[in-house]
Amino acid sequence: MRRPLLPVVVDAGPPAGFDGKLTPGEALRDRFARSIRYLRVSVTDRCNFACTYCVPDDGVEHKRKAELCTFEELERIVAVFADLGVRRLRLTGGEPTVRAGFVELVARLRRVPGIGEVVMTTNGHRLAELAGPLAAAGLAGANVSIDTLDPTRFAELTSGGDLARVVDGIDAASAAGLAIKLNAVALAGVNEHELAALCEFAWQRGLVMRFIEHMPLSSGDLYSARRELSASTIRAAVSEVFGLLEPSPVDRGIAGPARYWRLAARPEREFGIISAMTEHFCAACNRVRLTADGQLHACLGHDDAVSLRDVVRNGGRDDDLRRAIAWSVQGKREGHEFQRSGEGAPTKHMIAMGG
Ligand code: SAM
Ligand code: SF4
Repeated sequence: MRRPLLPVVVDAGPPAGFDGKLTPGEALRDRFARSIRYLRVSVTDRCNFACTYCVPDDGVEHKRKAELCTFEELERIVAVFADLGVRRLRLTGGEPTVRAGFVELVARLRRVPGIGEVVMTTNGHRLAELAGPLAAAGLAGANVSIDTLDPTRFAELTSGGDLARVVDGIDAASAAGLAIKLNAVALAGVNEHELAALCEFAWQRGLVMRFIEHMPLSSGDLYSARRELSASTIRAAVSEVFGLLEPSPVDRGIAGPARYWRLAARPEREFGIISAMTEHFCAACNRVRLTADGQLHACLGHDDAVSLRDVVRNGGRDDDLRRAIAWSVQGKREGHEFQRSGEGAPTKHMIAMGG
């Protein structure tokens, strides 16, 4: 049986004492003094790949087109976030480039007053053809997923992806002037012996490789302790090949979740680790996520969500949207509980959340 793509909407709601104050900036500061500066927008729950760590074996039930936010609805929601101090948007999916009119959507969101940067996360399959138009539309950069350099393993892991095509996409995007970072989910028994080679692949192109610790979503169904590679194991594997590592002090603007390391002997050679599991960064989290059907999730690790699409479709004014956003941010949990299984563990799927 196919599972619902998203759980029933749960509204965690704000804590006692929330007075609905909507001062710009303040509205996006949560109970733990974290300021939200960064919105991730999933523009589709569909994908042209089906990565084994992202999509459950029995598939997912996709939203109907009418359930997805329209471009106008997205513009409106993004404009309210910009008014509240969000400057940076990351478009994701599923696979963002399969949304019809994606280039136009980038151009429209880039023009929203206050939005200073629009970037995306992509599997790279359509990047060779879209890099130029996306750069012209104002896209600043792309994080491209590439988990392995072995074409057969790549096809297995992604359920049919073509590695050569993705590599062409990476090179085309760099040539088009997009700022590119590479992402690989680090998986024991899958790509653990390729971590150094993946770094080398990135460095040869003047890029940075980032390794993502595997996160258990879907009630832990996709989680297997045997698959996990911890941040310290990743560092050890890179260090074994390239020698001593040191933390990289590079300032990357609005901080993302990655912590960066560099080779002590070649400081220009850096890599990042996104270690949500073993060295989590919840205390510094500065982001919230909007799903393709307009649910605002303040934390990836919980099912709580507030439907901004419904606020819009029920005739809400911008003030109502601000209030709903502030409500969600005030209800943002202190941290994820990915390690917990069963009741209370998130039941949503990564493909619906966009990472
Ligand atoms: N389709 C695009 C892509 O693959 O880059 C964007 C969406 S994808 C869900 C965003 C990121 O989440 C990708 O880098 C992917 O590798 C990562 N991801 C997916 N499932 C994951 C999991 N279970 N644990 C950690 N990262 C995961
Ligand atoms: Fe698709 Fe990205 Fe998930 Fe892979 S990780 S199935 S490319 S959404």
